[in-house]
Amino acid sequence: MPPNLMSFLLIAMLVTLVFNTLVSMFSASATMKEIKYSEFMTKLEAGEVSEVEIRSDRLIITPRREEEPDPVASGITSSPADPTGAPSFQETLGQTQETQLELTYYTGYLYDTELISLLNKYNVDYYTPLTNPLWEIFRSWILPMLIIFVLFNFLLSTVSKRMGGGKGGFMSFGQSNAKVYVEKKTGVTFDDVAGQEEAKDSLLEIVDFLHNPEKYAHIGAKQPKGALLVGPPGTGKTLLAKAVAGEASVAFFSLSGSDFVEMFVGVGASRVRDLFKQANQMAPCIVFIDEVDAIGKSRDGQIGGNDEREQTLNQLLAEMDGFDSSKGVVILAATNRPEILDKALLRPGRFDRRIIVERPDLKGREDILKVHIKKVKISKNVDLKRVALATSGAAGADLANMVNEAALRAVRLNRGEVEQEDLMEAVEVIVAGKEKKDRIMTEKEKRIVAFHEVGHALATARQKNSQPVQKITIVPRTMGALGYVIQMPEEEHYLMTKDEMLTQITISMAGRVAEEEVFNLQTTGAANDIEQATKMARNMVELYGMSEKFGMMGLSSIENKYLDGRAVSLVSQITEADADNEVSCILSACYNKAKDIIQSNRAALSEIAEFLIEKETITGEEFMKILEKFPVDIYSQA
Ligand code: ADP
Ligand code: MG
Ligand code: ZN
Repeated sequence: MPPNLMSFLLIAMLVTLVFNTLVSMFSASATMKEIKYSEFMTKLEAGEVSEVEIRSDRLIITPRREEEPDPVASGITSSPADPTGAPSFQETLGQTQETQLELTYYTGYLYDTELISLLNKYNVDYYTPLTNPLWEIFRSWILPMLIIFVLFNFLLSTVSKRMGGGKGGFMSFGQSNAKVYVEKKTGVTFDDVAGQEEAKDSLLEIVDFLHNPEKYAHIGAKQPKGALLVGPPGTGKTLLAKAVAGEASVAFFSLSGSDFVEMFVGVGASRVRDLFKQANQMAPCIVFIDEVDAIGKSRDGQIGGNDEREQTLNQLLAEMDGFDSSKGVVILAATNRPEILDKALLRPGRFDRRIIVERPDLKGREDILKVHIKKVKISKNVDLKRVALATSGAAGADLANMVNEAALRAVRLNRGEVEQEDLMEAVEVIVAGKEKKDRIMTEKEKRIVAFHEVGHALATARQKNSQPVQKITIVPRTMGALGYVIQMPEEEHYLMTKDEMLTQITISMAGRVAEEEVFNLQTTGAANDIEQATKMARNMVELYGMSEKFGMMGLSSIENKYLDGRAVSLVSQITEADADNEVSCILSACYNKAKDIIQSNRAALSEIAEFLIEKETITGEEFMKILEKFPVDIYSQA
């Protein structure tokens, strides 16, 4: 018996006990009065009793009414010389006639063998009520308990609904709060998920299996027990799982990993057990555990450990082994930290299928934008491809957010539909934050920022492999940028060459170089550039084997690929120090290259920067128009 049922029974029994006692107390005191057995005997002998009800524990005594004459002992009733001194009826009550009539007495039952003959002798009616003992138990115990149960359940469910929980009632303590999504309840279908064609294919197969298992059984193909959706945040893992629910006309249980983790040891495990019990009853069905890393965290390498989580995980492992996938229960789970999952969870027979939900590519981004743009009114000039081009690296959630930001901007500007510029501005808002027009920079600061940014842009334009400049601005943004250059990729690529990486580092350096060349000072504005350049140089050395010194040696490995992508070192401290040297060499080579570029384009730098200071924001075309006036210096191309 689960502990919650136990405790419920205990509470209900206590309440019923109190209830029963109260009932008998009140009903006794209202119309009945307890008397001693000896008093009863006296009354009997005095002929004051007309009827006795013999119960298992007591005798209920109905006194003879005043009007009816006692056939046996008339006259004695009102005799003031009552030998026992027992109070007469009038004395006892001293009340109105009606209450007198209603009053009955009771006394405890004595196993008095002579009682019946005595009753016969004084001509008293006696009987024992016929009660069904089962009915008695039902009436006094089961019924109140049922009522209490129903009341509690009702109360708790209304309370939790009001608190936004909407979970089950009293009995669902310790049970899984699995919400059952039946077909189309989620309102999401595969059409709502764009740019994840491979993931959709894998999931479609599962949906198909649930629809016609015979097709697979015919060949002897077994369905995978579980599939793990893996990918960075916001790429649509939860959405995909909901879409599966929409597509499959089977029951769909959806829980988050953290739903299992409770303060009390054993609760999580019992929830898992429960969930699978329910799922088995509802088969065929899909069970979706979101953020599975909350329970599936690897068990080793922690001091002390976490009993509750381990128990929950063990239960999950056991359940996954225990159920028969041919019944049609498929488990989906989603995580963005697959590397911390317990190895036992990933072995064949458990989550043996991994569905990678990557950040969308150019085409994918365009498709996702199409899905979300359907929800807003757009003007005809909107070119989603350009937006997709500008949002390299964005996940589905970012794109959805961008469309919304664009719509908000259109409303702010009192327009009825979203235009291209709203979308492009939204891209910048997501990347750099909102414009901060009210931030007042001193004239000098403004000049420094302008030269810094134009420095970046020049380095971009003058290096062969780099992307053309899209826009330069010195309007500060809320996320800390004082100005920035937007580079526009012409097409998306998946590989980066060593040259391209060096070019990128050089571009990052050029901002600081411009500050130094023009104003002969260094500012804090280059912090972000330095961070990015250093990270890239370090990756070249440690991950991509692009340094002469170490060649193809891997010096570190990436720990959590889908979140911050932090690298952990694999080598000794001495080697690390050498690697640091190598990184610094790359950085200074790029710095020198940037210096060359800026120095040989010093005139162009000034002219463009002055133009930018005047305009605050210039486009790539305006930039190129000025730059074209200056012939390419052959030295910078060397
Ligand atoms: P996660 O991978 O972190 O679970 P979600 O599935 O919760 O991401 O995605 C959040 C939101 O982003 C979704 O509700 C949806 O609006 C949008 N989104 C993410 N990926 C896609 C996609 N591939 N297609 C359409 N919309 C998407
Ligand atoms: Mg999610
Ligand atoms: Zn910069």
